[in-house]
Amino acid sequence: MTINEFNFAGKKAIVRVDFNVPLDENGRITDDTRIRGALPTLKKILADGGATIIMSHMGKPKGKVNPKLSLGQIREAVEKALGVPVAFAPDCAKAADAAKALKMGEALLLENLRYYPEEEGKPVGIEKTDPAYDEAKKDMKASQKEFAKTLASYADCYVMDAFGTAHRKHASTAVIADYFDADNKMLGLLMEKEVEAVDNVLSNIKRPFVAIMGGSKVSSKIGIIENLLGKVDKLILCGGMTYTFMKAHGGEIGNSIVELDKLDVALGVEELAKKNGVELVLGEDSVVADSFSNDAKTQVCPSNAIPAGWEGLDAGPITREKFAAAIKGAKTILWNGPAGVFEFDNFTAGSKAVADAIAQATAEGAFSLIGGGDSVACINKFGLADQVSYISTGGGALLEAIEGKELPGIAAIKGK
Ligand code: AMP
Repeated sequence: MTINEFNFAGKKAIVRVDFNVPLDENGRITDDTRIRGALPTLKKILADGGATIIMSHMGKPKGKVNPKLSLGQIREAVEKALGVPVAFAPDCAKAADAAKALKMGEALLLENLRYYPEEEGKPVGIEKTDPAYDEAKKDMKASQKEFAKTLASYADCYVMDAFGTAHRKHASTAVIADYFDADNKMLGLLMEKEVEAVDNVLSNIKRPFVAIMGGSKVSSKIGIIENLLGKVDKLILCGGMTYTFMKAHGGEIGNSIVELDKLDVALGVEELAKKNGVELVLGEDSVVADSFSNDAKTQVCPSNAIPAGWEGLDAGPITREKFAAAIKGAKTILWNGPAGVFEFDNFTAGSKAVADAIAQATAEGAFSLIGGGDSVACINKFGLADQVSYISTGGGALLEAIEGKELPGIAAIKGK
């Protein structure tokens, strides 16, 4: 079933959204992108004459109640965004009465799903190395099914619209789908858009295809990097992972971030790029700092000749030009991970150069997909959000989808 074919009139729809929004110390929302992302689906349900039960996680409460991660804090914002009354159920597993009382045209927001360990389905308080772990996991999987069944019992139909968690087989993202027949479960409008954006990048790729991978570590992205080396024409590797590559060739990197146990991985990436005929683009110079702080003293030096006591925090001017030149003329672009410690205002130049070049290429006809919290934050910080083709709400989910992995949140609805 697709959401556009479905008529929600007189139906209660339970919708998994990603309302894991950042909050300040007073519990105020600092970025409501994720709430806005879910609105088309929620509004369609209400406009059809249905009611919606909204469920999400927030942060990592690790199976325990934590008022700092209560979704109650955002109830009012959701109500304002939806323009209909939004009730709040303070216990997501005991919301049957509230769901029953829900009137058509109204919404009910459930408390943080991850207050229950059943949501993620991982046993708590027991190490993987413990001989009793496997048994505990089996028990937990059984209670996860019960938990999912309880959530399902609140509604007539299920909508999965949380792309950010679609790569997780959690109670609310996948297991719950088993309790609805094929005609009563569907992907939401945000999910459909995300899937289409990934499709744009993967099927009938317009070339040149340039990917930019940044961030702090090569280890967390090695899967996607290796995978992209089978797809792209150019791969720009930037940010902190630069220094693992420099070190692998015997460079001096001072105090720069490095993964000394991944030097062979870096060399392997270079080998694979050569074998596949992919142009690998690495930084040459860095803005180095005498401490990890925005106010540190800085200088520019070659990325493989960083003086002792200094660390590379941003791409240098030669690198910035090199990156911009590599992106120019691209027809498909994927960006994940900043090119420097962009959170510090004095170290944004590398990421800004990448973002500007992407915006330019997009204006010249490229399809550009930006994903992962940090690169999205970059694009927003530079005010370029409306100058790229698509900003994904997914980090890990986006990368897994691009790797060609089946996402459990999608498979639960479309698969089998
Ligand atoms: P990731 O979570 O791996 O995508 O990494 C994102 C983080 O990488 C951001 O918080 C950046 O500040 C950080 N980062 C980027 N460049 C560097 C660098 N040269 N040194 C240390 N951290 C960096």
